[in-house]
Amino acid sequence: MNPFQFTRVTTPKAAISAVTKEKGTYFLAGGTNLIDLMKREVVIPERLVDINKLPLATIEKTVTGLRIGATAKNSAVADNELVKKYFPLLSQALNAGASAQLRNMATVGGNMMQRTRCAYFYDNSMPCNKRSPVQTGGAAGSTERFRADKGQANGPTGCGAIGGFNRMHAIFGASEKCIAVHPSDMCIALVALDATVNVSGPKGDRKIPFGEFHRLPGDKPQQDNTLQPGELIMSVDLPTNRFSDNSHYLKVRDRASYAFALVSVGVALDMKGNTIRDVRLAMGGVAHKPWRLTKAEDFLRGKPATEANFKQAAALAMQGAKGYGENDFKLTLAPNSIIDALKTATKTA
Ligand code: SF4
Repeated sequence: MNPFQFTRVTTPKAAISAVTKEKGTYFLAGGTNLIDLMKREVVIPERLVDINKLPLATIEKTVTGLRIGATAKNSAVADNELVKKYFPLLSQALNAGASAQLRNMATVGGNMMQRTRCAYFYDNSMPCNKRSPVQTGGAAGSTERFRADKGQANGPTGCGAIGGFNRMHAIFGASEKCIAVHPSDMCIALVALDATVNVSGPKGDRKIPFGEFHRLPGDKPQQDNTLQPGELIMSVDLPTNRFSDNSHYLKVRDRASYAFALVSVGVALDMKGNTIRDVRLAMGGVAHKPWRLTKAEDFLRGKPATEANFKQAAALAMQGAKGYGENDFKLTLAPNSIIDALKTATKTA
């Protein structure tokens, strides 16, 4: 690991100022992903700003719902009585993530900021446009070396996963530059539950709808999200809903614990008898961002909870899906998972 400076701050203002002042400065919260990235020299910070002492770990009721502080630990959120009672989908998704030890360290903000687990991204000897983006004017797929934040070599450009080992990769929204997936479980619940992200930065405060926080790779796979330089995640707001009786997070993975999703589905419904009054659906393990299934939601709203309707919704959700070889099995696994999760959430299984 490379040497770096370490600063601890106690106010958001000091944190934002420290990160804005010097290039190559990163916020450090739980560190469960950043430290791995540093060990492998995928990220080489000049300076870390420890934000664990900021007063951002609270979980509190608001007039419109619930506010969860950015440094609240994943385990604290999953076990919180308000979360379990009013937003069980979030609690289930959090408990499906990582391991108990990691959930005790990882924070809400850090969970949102975690990088893809594409194996090529973590190996500096392999081509990766996310780790080593092509310089402006450079040719895609060239071996030109470039480090986005330091101007230093950090492995060849290109995408090793396209035509390579891509079993875990995207079937929606990928580009010719990158087919990686976002790895979070928590974020699938948050996008389904219409969360809002509160951020603060050098230009002031702003709110970002959760569905607009992460981005698709396009021509800039190095950018995972829409944060501006120096912006700090302060909290996440969840609006009140009527989904608490009918929600389910289904995660399909290679082992029962400590494994990322091959496919996951977050479902939350408001039922009246057997009729779906309202529904939220999102998938993980399938795209560069948490993938909301709005066409399927629109189809299901107002319809009875039947297997035929679930199959039709899953078919609508899969429109535009594309496999890359080793991950073709997701084209079958994903719709089956949607149907299964809907059956469980509506108690019709
Ligand atoms: Fe890199 Fe993305 Fe390709 Fe993986 S899929 S090698 S992260 S560019």
